[in-house]
Amino acid sequence: MTKADRKPLVSGNWKMHHNHFEALQLVQKLTYLLTSDDHDAVEVSVHPPFTDLRTVQTYLLSEKQPIPIALGAQNCHWEEKGAFTGEISPAFLAKLDVQYVIAGHSERRELFGETDEDVNRKVKAILKWGMTPILCCGETLEERQSGATEDKVRGQVEAGLAGLKADQVGGLVIAYEPIWAIGTGHTASAGDAQAVCALIRRVVAERFGAEAAARVRIQYGGSVKPTNAAELMAQPDIDGALVGGASLEAEDFARIVQYRL
Ligand code: PEP
Repeated sequence: MTKADRKPLVSGNWKMHHNHFEALQLVQKLTYLLTSDDHDAVEVSVHPPFTDLRTVQTYLLSEKQPIPIALGAQNCHWEEKGAFTGEISPAFLAKLDVQYVIAGHSERRELFGETDEDVNRKVKAILKWGMTPILCCGETLEERQSGATEDKVRGQVEAGLAGLKADQVGGLVIAYEPIWAIGTGHTASAGDAQAVCALIRRVVAERFGAEAAARVRIQYGGSVKPTNAAELMAQPDIDGALVGGASLEAEDFARIVQYRL
């Protein structure tokens, strides 16, 4: 299996933006902008806030033909139910036809204290409920400048995937998101992004074997825009993009999905 066999996945992480009315408008616009050729070439997922999921799910299923945009979530708890005030069960997400769940986004790690162990529990719970994790990893600016990128990313990937089987790892998505590039307008150069994505694939090969490494899809995230998407997506180990800011405007996000045109 080579890059050509891995269908690119472009995911829009809306973070805490857009109420359910705005979410509906955005996904409607996106539906009109994306063609069947786009959907044949690229898988697309949108990750609205939890309060928007039901609205977006209902819209995606409302046509005679379901709209081929995958519904995603930004986070979940690892338990199915219980006394966890304010948390969301992976079982509830699965019931809403959520297909992809982001696990370990750097904002969750930095602002809400998520540890590698928490992220690993989430990855396992997402898989248990039949959804696909998008496991995030990435270094801070200080770590990059001090030459610690490889250790940081390797550590996060190994910890996030601990205890999984090779066939599970082959089916999931890992997002390399250098923290200094998220929301800053500073994108990693295509060469630097490729180097870390190749490292991630090597780590997967060492731990889970060549087949899992060849199958796993690796996204780059960090100030992806319509103007830099094509160069990033052309890299041999980059199979998609996790997009924050530019996914909030339908035109920009559609142009990223259409990077090959
Ligand atoms: C993100 O939040 O995952 C992200 C990559 O954000 P942005 O595209 O705005 O840098």
